Parts: sequence; C-alpha cells; structure tokens
Amino acid sequence: MKFRPCFLAWLVLCAGLNISAFAANKPHNIILFVPDGLRALMVRADTALTMAKLRDEGVAFTNSHSLFPTFTMPNASAMATGHYLGDTGVFSNYIYTGYPVPGAGGSMTPFLESDPVLGDVDEHFAGNYIHLDTLLKMARAAGFNAATVGKLGPSLIFDHTERTGQKTVIVDDSTGQLGSIPLAKWLKEDMIKAGLPLKSPTRGPNGKPGNATTPGTLMANVKQQQYFVDLFDKFILPKFKKDNKPFVAVFWSRDPDGTQHNQGDSLLKLVPGINGRTSLAAIRNADDDLRQIRQTVKALGLEATTDIIVSADHGFSTISKQSSSSAAAKISYADVPKGFLPPGFLAKDLSRALNLPLWDPDQRNAPIALSAHSKFANGLLGKDPHDPLVVVAGNGGSDLVYLPKIESKTKLHELAGKIIGFLLRQDYTSGLFVDDRLGLFPGTLSLKDINLQGSAITPMPAIVVNFRSFSSGCKQPTNCTVEVADTALQQGQGMHGSFSRADTYNFTAAYGPDFKHHFVDTAPISNADIGKTMAVLLHLNLPNQGKLWGRVITESMPNRKMPKVIKGTLKSKPAKNGLRTLLNYQQVDKTLYFDAAGFNGKTVGLNSKS
Ligand SMILES: [Zn+2]
Repeated sequence: MKFRPCFLAWLVLCAGLNISAFAANKPHNIILFVPDGLRALMVRADTALTMAKLRDEGVAFTNSHSLFPTFTMPNASAMATGHYLGDTGVFSNYIYTGYPVPGAGGSMTPFLESDPVLGDVDEHFAGNYIHLDTLLKMARAAGFNAATVGKLGPSLIFDHTERTGQKTVIVDDSTGQLGSIPLAKWLKEDMIKAGLPLKSPTRGPNGKPGNATTPGTLMANVKQQQYFVDLFDKFILPKFKKDNKPFVAVFWSRDPDGTQHNQGDSLLKLVPGINGRTSLAAIRNADDDLRQIRQTVKALGLEATTDIIVSADHGFSTISKQSSSSAAAKISYADVPKGFLPPGFLAKDLSRALNLPLWDPDQRNAPIALSAHSKFANGLLGKDPHDPLVVVAGNGGSDLVYLPKIESKTKLHELAGKIIGFLLRQDYTSGLFVDDRLGLFPGTLSLKDINLQGSAITPMPAIVVNFRSFSSGCKQPTNCTVEVADTALQQGQGMHGSFSRADTYNFTAAYGPDFKHHFVDTAPISNADIGKTMAVLLHLNLPNQGKLWGRVITESMPNRKMPKVIKGTLKSKPAKNGLRTLLNYQQVDKTLYFDAAGFNGKTVGLNSKS
C-alpha cells in the first residue's frame, strides 16, 4: 500500500484545517450514496426512514446546493472533481461537442449518460474531456480500493478514463453489453461461482416513459437496483474488507430520478405530478438500497471506520408544457397535445425568429419540417447543419445555446443580441446567462457570475436559458414546483435542470467517524464541496488544476466552527422591457453558492428583495 503523506501542496490547499487530526491517522473509508434527483425536503421518517435517520444521527445539511444547470452529469463531474462546471466543462447532460460523436450515432449534441459516448469524448478532448483528475482515479493511484456502481453515466465519471475495469470496479446499466466497461476479473469470477448473471438487468417497465395518450411507468426501479445493491453488499464491500485496505465506493441510485421522470401518475396534469405514489415508491426504493448498504457496513464491522455521505445530484420538478408566447406551441403535431410545447421548442422558436433552417443532430442532421419536432429537443440552425450558426442543446429545465461559427466579433454580438432580445419576450424564459466575451446585454448576467467560465476544454455555451417555474400550491413550494421543460416527456411527468430552489435544493447528509453527530449544518454547501471534502478526507493530493474549487466542509467535522456566511443578490441591468436576471447567492470565504436565479416572480425560491 502506498499512502502518500501530507505533502506541501496539500498542506497549502488545506490551510486552516486541523491538519494533524487528518495526517496522523490512516484515512477512513468513504461510501458516497447518490439518490439521484432526491429533493431535500422529501426526506421524512414516513418517506425515507433510513436517510432521515442517517441525517438526524449524523450531519444534516440544511443549506445544500446542486450546481446549475441542475442536471446529473454536471453534478457528477462536480462530486468527482471538487470543481464547479466552468472547470469540468460538463455544462449539461446534452452538450455541443463540435464534432459528430460516433457513440451517439454521429450527433454533435450527444447525451453524456453513456459509456461509449464518454469514451468518444475523452478520446476527442485529449484523453480526458473533463480535463481534471477524478476522485477515484486519484484514490486508487494512492493505494485505495475503488468501486463505482449504479446509474449509467454518472457512475463512470468517477474514473472515466480507466476503461479496463480492472483498477476501479465499475458496474452500471450497460455491464455485460457491447461497448461497456469490463467487470473486474475477481468480481466476474466470484459472480460466476455464485451463479449470478454477468449482464445487468434492464429497467424493464420502469424504463417506459409512455406518451401523450399512454401514461408512463407505475413501478419504481426495484429489480435493477437490487442487482446493483447485491453486487455492492455481497461481493464488493466484503472483498474490500478482506483486502484490509481503505476504500472509496460510490453507489449511484437511479431512483428516484428515473421514476420521477417517467411516472404515469399524472399524465398531462400538474397535480399530483411528481408527488404521486410511483414517485414515493422510488424514494422508498433508494432508501431501501441505503438501508441494505448500512446493514452490510455494520455486519462487516466497518461502521467505525467508514464515512457514509449521501448527496443527491439535484432536486426535481413537475413538467409544464404550456406557453402563450411560443410560436412552436401554436403548430399541430401528431404526438403533442394541441397547444402544448413540443420537444425542441426553443430550437424551433429560434429557427423561426432568426429565419434559419433547422436540422436534427439526433436524426443524422435531417431537416425538421414545420409540423415536426426534433427527437431529443436538440437543434442545429443555419444553412449547413455540418457548420451551424446556432446550436441548441435541449436539456429540460434549462437549455444551452451555442454560437460555434467563427465570425467577426461584431456579427457574433449582433446574433447574440437578436437571440437574447427574442428570449426576453418569451413567457417561458426566466433568467439568461451569457458569455461576456460576446458583449454586454441588459437583462442578462454573465456565465462568469455563476462559475460557468473556467478552465474547461469543451465548447462553452454562448447563452444558458433558464425556464420559468411556479408552485402548484403546497406548504413547501420546493416540494411541488412546476417548471417549463424542453423535453420529450409529457406535462405532469418530472424534470429538473432549472435555477429554481426546487431543483438546486438536493438532499445531503453524512454519518461516520469524520463527522459530527446530531449536527445541523446551516452553512451553504454544494456538490463541488462534496468532491473536495471527500478528497481531503481520503488524504489525496489535490492537483493544481482549474480555479473554481468547492470548499472543504470543515464545520461538519468534530471540533470545528461554523464559517461566516454572506448573502446577497446580484442584479443585471434592466432590459428594454424592464426584465432583469436576478441571482440569489451565498458566500463562504471565496466560495460562492447559487440558490435561485431568474426574473422576478418567475422562479420558485427567488427572492428579489434580499
Ligand atoms: Zn434526471
């Protein structure tokens, strides 16, 4: 085993920490459990007993933050590196890559939750599209055992450049399929001995989203996740215990996210939305998985030496597909209820407003007819789809707009101005963030203001569009938020990605030897802090890469004090129609936290007076 002692670089980065408390001891094990899409305030004794208990016995983070855009892959990149998205370059789940990605059928706007796609983009962007070292890569290089199990995409992010499967154990939805990461040799042998299938089960009926006339799934993702938990509990943790080496293990639970997206409890209706029985069953499913993992940790005698951190990647909202300003909503489509927004409405509206032809990157750049819409909400705009003037990466509660064609600065400024002017007039927009190298635009804030401009090497969006959100009426508005979403899913199903507090407020808690007991941490924390804190708990040498770091959550550790917190609101200059993008933020030292952003009255949780 080759543990690196606390080197100088690490000491400098961790200045202010009680170094001796860490350096003197062998690092503890860490289990990171991610209940994908779990809203912070949905965890109660009657909905998720194991998580409620872990939170109440350990540290309850009551001021947690998912990073905007509040999607899975961006937040996985933050947890895996300790950096904000301006450094990781994972700006959303669908990003514009600037080249046709083979694993995504030649699309220039691939969905990143795919092992082959992650392999392709890594290869294209100098072997590591995130351009930062990830936690499990650093940990196993320092002598830890490492494993990451669960949802396809975010699980792999934690050691995405290690595709042999032999150094870090990787098990996800695609295990056993072509293009997947091979099982570790020892695990494969143990599974064969135990008579376990070497191919992950599919989601079965849970994977069915339905359509405009047929409701989606009425079942949680129980069967598939039980397979993952069994591998985690019966093979991986016992092996790690036997090896007598410290370990870091990630379990990424697709539920409640997958079920909340696809649930068929509320077709075309905003209530119950994502609070129906199927979504609640999905929260219970994730909770059951964590219960089994905690039981295993206890049974193996690992409780005193293992930290368990539970952090959802983002919150969740119910989908609205209504707009009175959108031209795309006024057209009839074969598969969209009359008057509703089609998937890809933003690309369609922009194509009309800018008078540019529209092409579908996910259907081999086929033209999109007036009465049709794109497959996944993405769009290429311009005369030549191979050399587009404007690209829309449609994602859900927010979309990315790219201006990839190299033209003169004046022309780019003019084009961005036209797009922004149009978006400021749409009832679905609530907040615009712009690359300030394109110029200043009243009504908008800069990508820099929300830590989206850093050392990333993937193409940077020109404009990030946040969509409107509102409460459907309940005691805790973040539990029943509705948001306009650019998605193939239906009104009444679930989505996230917006800058509402419903989507930024993710469940986070921690329990273990490095954390206080029965402690409520009211200081702001984010998923970048989770990554940074894990790296420090593991005594890893954090490389000097990028500048947009999260902070170490010291106040959650024994004998440490609460930090000083500053709160504020950043306001853009008003646009011609008076709209300003507002941003509620908090600050601890130099670390910024973003609560909510948008136009006054059009984003849940946005306070215009603070
Ligand atoms: Zn999701």
